[in-house]
Amino acid sequence: MSFDVLSFDLVIFDCDGVLVDSEALACVVHADVLTQHGYAITAEQVHDRFLGRSAREARFEVETELGRTLPDAYTAQLKATIDRVFGESLQPVPHIAETLARLPQRICVASSGTPTRIHSSLTTTGLLDRFAPHLFSASQVSNGKPAPDLFLFAAAEMGVPPALCLVIEDSVPGVTAARAAGMAVLGFHGGAHCRPDTAQALKAAGATVTFGDMRQLPGLIGRIARHPAAASVT
Ligand SMILES: [Mg+2]
Repeated sequence: MSFDVLSFDLVIFDCDGVLVDSEALACVVHADVLTQHGYAITAEQVHDRFLGRSAREARFEVETELGRTLPDAYTAQLKATIDRVFGESLQPVPHIAETLARLPQRICVASSGTPTRIHSSLTTTGLLDRFAPHLFSASQVSNGKPAPDLFLFAAAEMGVPPALCLVIEDSVPGVTAARAAGMAVLGFHGGAHCRPDTAQALKAAGATVTFGDMRQLPGLIGRIARHPAAASVT
């Protein structure tokens, strides 16, 4: 019996929750600043509604519900508070640096964050040199995740067909976006924000495999490249 051999030429990493363990911090800050501006919401609710999506789209959704625009001070306060909290507390996802060092494929980042945020988060956690200049932001495309635009843009910029790209994602909108782009996607659930049902949700959204420890990644890429239907890890 022979298998179609799928070799991946490019691994596209989401940033928040995959490279940097930012989501638990960001949900608390986002909820606190929204509440201060008259939209009462908990960190848990931010997690459920906005995880993996851009701040621009979250803001638009809140403004639609409020029936008014949030002031410029909202965006400034959100940015300043995240800058401070990330500067004090942001950590890389455990074992990500050693894992990146083991991957033979080309790699890039495709994030819902702004270019400035991607740059600062990767700098704070010591990962920037492994990726720069291949950093792609939702602000470079019309529609953020769960639309496929950002992953297709990243693949085109890197000169790799979508079928030869593998995406690593921690959110349902991110997994959905990768599948819509025609790419295989692995669901990572090792971030501090993840819940017991995160793996199941990522699988349901279309992740080929889910995993909770970055040290598993090189082996998983090899397995799904050889037997895409057979790999199964939760
Ligand atoms: Mg993410």
